[in-house]
Amino acid sequence: MAGAELIGKEEVKEVMDVLGTGVFARYGFDNERKGFWKVRDFERRFAKYMGAKYALGVTSGSAALVVALTALDVGPGDEVICPAFTFVATYEAVLEVGAIPVMADIDDTLNLDPDDIPRKITSKTKGVIAVHMCGSGARIDKIVRIAKKHRLFVLEDNAQALGGSFKGKMLGTFGSMGTFSFDHYKVITAGEGGMIITNDEKLYHRAEWYHDHGHDHLSKISRALDGRTILGFNYRMNELQGALGLAQLRKLNRVMAAQRKNKETIKGFLRKVPGIGFRTIPDPAGDSATFLGFHLPTEEKARRFQKALQQEGLSTTLYKDNLWHYVPNWEHFLAQSTANSKKHPFSDPRNSKVKYSRKAIPRAEDLLGRTLFMLVNVKMPPATMKKIRLAIENAAKKI
Ligand SMILES: *Cc1c(COP(=O)(O)O)cnc(C)c1O
Repeated sequence: MAGAELIGKEEVKEVMDVLGTGVFARYGFDNERKGFWKVRDFERRFAKYMGAKYALGVTSGSAALVVALTALDVGPGDEVICPAFTFVATYEAVLEVGAIPVMADIDDTLNLDPDDIPRKITSKTKGVIAVHMCGSGARIDKIVRIAKKHRLFVLEDNAQALGGSFKGKMLGTFGSMGTFSFDHYKVITAGEGGMIITNDEKLYHRAEWYHDHGHDHLSKISRALDGRTILGFNYRMNELQGALGLAQLRKLNRVMAAQRKNKETIKGFLRKVPGIGFRTIPDPAGDSATFLGFHLPTEEKARRFQKALQQEGLSTTLYKDNLWHYVPNWEHFLAQSTANSKKHPFSDPRNSKVKYSRKAIPRAEDLLGRTLFMLVNVKMPPATMKKIRLAIENAAKKI
């Protein structure tokens, strides 16, 4: 649960600054806000931490995807390649802008397989969403190289691997845009919230305009006098979220250091179990260490080990069974059950009919069927670690 475990006086102080002014809006009220610009400060510090030129706070990680896809001019008639293993929000965001998500396979990183991208390209393909699932990165250098060759954008959905990096460069800065989530379960939390980063000034401005009804935020006199060139919507982050984000961002390095240490300890227990291997991480030094993924030689063995661990009181996730993070299990998505009775955008004649068959993702079917995931927490005191060690030792005798 990462950042949520560390809510303390630092968050209280930041939030009290905002409550002391009564100004929750990120824009305007220059005289009343007593010098506090929490969202703006959070954006600036986030951009600096990431090594990105621009950051834009929004209401959620899902909103971040919608705003980024809109900035990238994705709409009806476009296809976007997404990995089969991701949270449903990635696919929902593509549908939300009127385009069609195309399901691609994963590799041993359990993230998007770069080599599957060319196989999924059609004349309608506009870009790729690379998702860094469960704390660790995809082969992002190769994904960017292949996408560039085919003139596709790369959007990194980094909701789950904030703080992760590849060869010293932060995940989220390889594509033309990167998105993050601060919901309660993520690496750091603002209750709800999201962030978009980019180095591209034009994309930043399009995102900034769209997320706030088209406002260009350039009037020095009043928000009411801002100029506008496009219509938008409201995905604005508020000052309370900005305050929480500021306090949590300062704790991010601490979160990762603790998680990395705890993950190593648990890996040490697992290494003694015959047949166990670990998820491939392209750059282990850049692991955000929010999850630990390990696999067994067969699905049958993995299921037996999972059951044995459960009997010892240790729960793990086998994502092939998961109802929210694996496309073949989304019966509502497969039935094209969008919230409108016309089934937009699946029914749009500009969009092609795309199939989502398990046969198209053989590696996901194999790997997600025999990989078990454990959540790594910041606080895992010796008593917790002892329980985990005993559970693993006892379960190992049953496989
Ligand atoms: C959590 C998550 C999102 C959505 O973030 P919210 O802030 O909950 O809307 C998007 N993508 C992935 C991979 C996620 O895990």
